[in-house]
Amino acid sequence: MSDDIQKIGVIGAGQMGSGIAHVCAASGYDVYLIDQTDEAVSKGLEKLIRNMDRDVARGRIEEDVRNRALKRIATGSSYDGFKDCDLVIEAASEDEDVKKAIFKTLCDNVNEGTLIATNTSSISITRLAAQTDRPGQVCGMHFMNPVPRMELVELIRGIATEEDTYKRVRQVTEKLGKKAVNAEDFPAFIVNRILLPMINEAVYTLYEGVGSVKAIDTAMKLGTNHPMGPLELADFIGLDTCLAVMHVLHEGLADTKYRPCPLLVKYVEAGWLGRKSDRGFYDYSGDEPVPTR
Ligand code: NAD
Repeated sequence: MSDDIQKIGVIGAGQMGSGIAHVCAASGYDVYLIDQTDEAVSKGLEKLIRNMDRDVARGRIEEDVRNRALKRIATGSSYDGFKDCDLVIEAASEDEDVKKAIFKTLCDNVNEGTLIATNTSSISITRLAAQTDRPGQVCGMHFMNPVPRMELVELIRGIATEEDTYKRVRQVTEKLGKKAVNAEDFPAFIVNRILLPMINEAVYTLYEGVGSVKAIDTAMKLGTNHPMGPLELADFIGLDTCLAVMHVLHEGLADTKYRPCPLLVKYVEAGWLGRKSDRGFYDYSGDEPVPTR
């Protein structure tokens, strides 16, 4: 391995954390993956194994590569396993208080030299880094969903991020086979600054009765050549994450154009979070997704 990073910790075994653990292990890093509960870790690991099996079945990777990658992954729910990690990537829920609490515990459980990256979609890297004992060693590392398939990682330096930290995180990104794009530390960075207002507008379009779920998604797929409609994409991202990003944009940029659509708020309040809860703008409980409006 050309860089000095050998073992990577991942916090949060949801759709992003399990994808990040997948690509890290497949690229030769040892991985330690945790979540809040054993059940959540098992779910994340099962998803990772399913995705690797699919890669083998489709001829994307050899079976022995899969087997070696899986051997490199350890899981748990305690912070002890982070002690010998060179880099820890935080991919827990998009909630500033949750992330701040994680960073506090993490700093008590890692070596002085350990780098910390966060996969936040929108929250200030500078503010999160300020909660740690090492703001110079914190960097934003924003992967895209699904992590094994998507090529981009946005890299975001906080105001205190040291050049050495940035260079090493960039080296890891490249070793994972991803393309890095730099974004400045403003709310939601580049991709979500542009994407989430479009999704929010699609929800307003539904809310105001301009079109049905199917009409909106079909119009955007066929009319703009997007591979997924915006409501289908919102369900894929997670409606809780979409709402959290809109709140960060609204508060951080103080512009009413970022006001989250009340219908998006209502869906999240109902626990209709999209694919991960089997219901969002579509119902996923059957064989095919069924539009709900
Ligand atoms: P998710 O809901 O699928 O997973 C979040 C996981 O974090 C859950 O398993 C939850 O149990 C765990 N978690 C919550 N609090 C925790 C704690 N204190 N310690 C350990 N684990 C904890 O969400 P996700 O889509 O994987 O998003 C995770 C992060 O990645 C968020 O910051 C999100 O903004 C970001 N992100 C999401 C996407 C996307 O498309 N969903 C894309 C890029 C980045």
